[in-house]
Amino acid sequence: MSFEERQILIIGAGPSGLIAAREAARRGVDVLVVEEDSEIGVPCHCAGLLSLRGLKRLNISADGSYVQNKVRGAFFHSPSGLSFKVEKQSPVACVVDRSSFDKYLASQATRIGAEIRLNSRVQEIQLENGCVAARSKKRVFKASIVIDAEGASSRIVKAAGLKSTNPSHFLPGFQLDLYGVDVDPNYVEVHVGSRVAPGFFAWVIPLSSNSARVGLGCRKANPKELLQRFIERRFKGEEYEILTSRSGTIITSGPIEKTFSNRLLIVGDAAGQVKPTTGGGVILGGLCGAIAGKVAAEAVNLGRFDEDFLRLYEESWRKSLGREFKYMILARRILNALSDRMIDKGFELIIKEGLQEVISREGDMDFQSNVILELVRRRRILRILLPLLKLQHLLHEIGLG
Ligand SMILES: Cc1cc2nc3c(=O)[nH]c(=O)nc-3n(C[C@H](O)[C@H](O)[C@H](O)COP(=O)(O)OP(=O)(O)OC[C@H]3O[C@@H](n4cnc5c(N)ncnc54)[C@H](O)[C@@H]3O)c2cc1C
Repeated sequence: MSFEERQILIIGAGPSGLIAAREAARRGVDVLVVEEDSEIGVPCHCAGLLSLRGLKRLNISADGSYVQNKVRGAFFHSPSGLSFKVEKQSPVACVVDRSSFDKYLASQATRIGAEIRLNSRVQEIQLENGCVAARSKKRVFKASIVIDAEGASSRIVKAAGLKSTNPSHFLPGFQLDLYGVDVDPNYVEVHVGSRVAPGFFAWVIPLSSNSARVGLGCRKANPKELLQRFIERRFKGEEYEILTSRSGTIITSGPIEKTFSNRLLIVGDAAGQVKPTTGGGVILGGLCGAIAGKVAAEAVNLGRFDEDFLRLYEESWRKSLGREFKYMILARRILNALSDRMIDKGFELIIKEGLQEVISREGDMDFQSNVILELVRRRRILRILLPLLKLQHLLHEIGLG
């Protein structure tokens, strides 16, 4: 068994870990990222829909070769077939090939000085005198500080004695890339309802006018079977070819209670830094990864690896995203409690009152609190929601109680 000493060790070369690596390395500290798989970005579990604003916030180009398409809005479809459209004048999001996207992030991090080691699975970590020891099959990495970016599995989080994401908020997701379908390349489709995707939704993300990434997440059902049925209905009579299939775990819980301890920071899916409304985690996990990289580099420069210093990480990400998570968790709870009939009523109201204009105007794919508050505050929407929920509790949560 060989030993290797590093200043910062990052476990997991997904977007959160790679962005953390980039931000730490740019501050001149020594960074090693270890990844269990043999290729960055493979296997891929993601639909790759990322907001342009989010990419800008992360200093990532929206014009790289990993971009497959850009969209400017979405069609929402209710259980009974009602629909409305939200849109902006110009593109708001891009669809990326996640494998190429992750490789690009890896090249950003290594160009600036980080090192990435593939085929290196950390099996356990242990606090030792003056370092954290992370063991893989062949090697022990002794690091001043570890950033855990291991994704949804959360093995390290549990081993470190922190409370991991509650698996009851994990949903199975399944998606296929289809070629030969007729879709509008400018708009994503979101289909809701218990028949389509109980407990979540189905998506059609156009890759061009004749190809799309079609998938769904669901609760207590088989996503593969539901997706097959959805595709048969949605693309009835069309002749298409299935190019790739992907599955994965969609996290809807919101963040874990505590994302730091001595010599350890937790980021991304491992920390539950995923939008509970949509299951999207690349941008918010990346923003938290950037903060973690910065705090870890500061910790190295100051020689401070204690909890009192590292809580700065949690304070910083909660300051910018805490409110967002709070409202998205609320929205997810409301959505989970709605019957198909109530969803239809909600659609009717949105269409009748022209609220799609409000969503189009106020909407931000990642910072959703304003639009959630704007909608939930509407008296008629409240009237639909209240029979379901404890009135005082809801009003209190949205600051109207
Ligand atoms: C079906 C589906 C569709 C999705 N669509 C979108 C979308 O359109 N937009 C969006 O923003 N998000 C989407 N997401 C969520 C998104 O994929 C995740 O939020 C994002 O990948 C989280 O990044 P991460 O770096 O935290 O974790 P990951 O991307 O999971 O990366 C973790 C990495 O750590 C490695 N690893 C794990 N354990 C170890 C270990 N012990 N030692 C070494 N390496 C280890 C893994 O191999 C992996 O490479 C989707 C998820 C699913 C399941």
